[in-house]
Amino acid sequence: SQLPAREQVLIERRRQSLGSAYRLFYEQPLHVVRAEDVWLYDPDGNAYLDVYNNVASVGHSHPRVVAAIAQQAATLNTHTRYLGDGIVDYAERLLATFPAETSQVMFTCTGSEANDLALRLAWNATGGKGLIVSSHAYHGVTSSVAECSPAFGDGVPLGVHVRTVPPPDSYRQGPDAGKRFVEGVQAAIADLQRHGIQPAALLVDTLFTSDGVYPEPVGCLARAAEVIRAAGGLFIADEVQAGFARSGSHFWGFQRHGVVPDIVTMGKPMGNGHPIAGVVARPQIIDAFGSRVRYFNTFGGNAVSCAAGMAVLDVIRDEQLQQNALETGAYLKAGFEALAARHELIGDVRGAGFFLGVEMVRDRASKAPASVETARIVNALRQRRILISATGPAGNILKVRPQLVFAREHADMLLGALDEVLAAG
Ligand code: PMP
Repeated sequence: SQLPAREQVLIERRRQSLGSAYRLFYEQPLHVVRAEDVWLYDPDGNAYLDVYNNVASVGHSHPRVVAAIAQQAATLNTHTRYLGDGIVDYAERLLATFPAETSQVMFTCTGSEANDLALRLAWNATGGKGLIVSSHAYHGVTSSVAECSPAFGDGVPLGVHVRTVPPPDSYRQGPDAGKRFVEGVQAAIADLQRHGIQPAALLVDTLFTSDGVYPEPVGCLARAAEVIRAAGGLFIADEVQAGFARSGSHFWGFQRHGVVPDIVTMGKPMGNGHPIAGVVARPQIIDAFGSRVRYFNTFGGNAVSCAAGMAVLDVIRDEQLQQNALETGAYLKAGFEALAARHELIGDVRGAGFFLGVEMVRDRASKAPASVETARIVNALRQRRILISATGPAGNILKVRPQLVFAREHADMLLGALDEVLAAG
């Protein structure tokens, strides 16, 4: 349908002033002016159910986070070169969610910067340069992490020191998926070595979200970590997507696999929209870096960011949001499975907690990706004021990633709308 004149003008001004690198969601882009809880509002006051925004993870404009930011901004906002209580209080609270071995944290402003710092830590600690990532991974926008983010496609060539491995695709590979993933890591290590490149790290999103959401089989990341360590490299868990209680059963995605990483990166939901991100690592890795390098990040770990981060942890605890991700996530997954029993297009439903992938296929025998149909579903749901997107190299997997405060009534709205859209064909 035709965009209103107001939005057409905004799109044109945006193109003029921001240039061509940005992309909008949906055939009919959505203009939003405010948000609350799981709802986004357009200028006419219409509410849209947000099933996709994992940044405002404890709910859009959560009053406790807003108050913490405002109060700290009105009191003091300085950086890490002064002594302050807030950063240390927050570091200790955050680290309490981690295994004892990963006991130090450094703060950045974005997930990209966190991964960039993780690579510097790994290169420094191992003396190697080689990186292994999954075949459709996204790790961010700095030069170092863009060149190990195959999701960018041909426009951003991979570094000569980067190798890719297929994700553990439990839908197509069945119970062998974990074994095949580990064999892929082994092959990538061998290829790096054959080219005279010493492996520095295996870097993976612990839910393989950009690859298409592959939470199973649990344990394969533990075996992959053993393999990379045996080759002198480190295991880096990118928790930008999976972290902060999203997987329901655990606070961090790597914990589902029973592995202790050498380095963990995090961002997105950490400040509920305020830009704070970080790197947690074993202290010997940080020591090896800190003894040689001075690290100062002007905004990373500033007092307001730490107040936001602390409020997010408080809300997750006090509102029992990990439990909600577990319970309502299971309810939602069962709902998709019930839809799969009635709609041939749904080939697979997988996920953990509030991170689900609903894979659409042309037919269930060939499992050929139903990419065009998935794009149509995403846009049809947007017309019904439900906001979702798709993932995977073929864009045929609905990425269901609601806020941690998503309730059963919201799940029912989503499931009912998807049912109607699928029935309409
Ligand atoms: N890692 C993963 C797994 C991500 O999904 C993203 C962002 N989509 C990043 C890193 C980069 O984070 P940021 O956009 O905050 O730089």
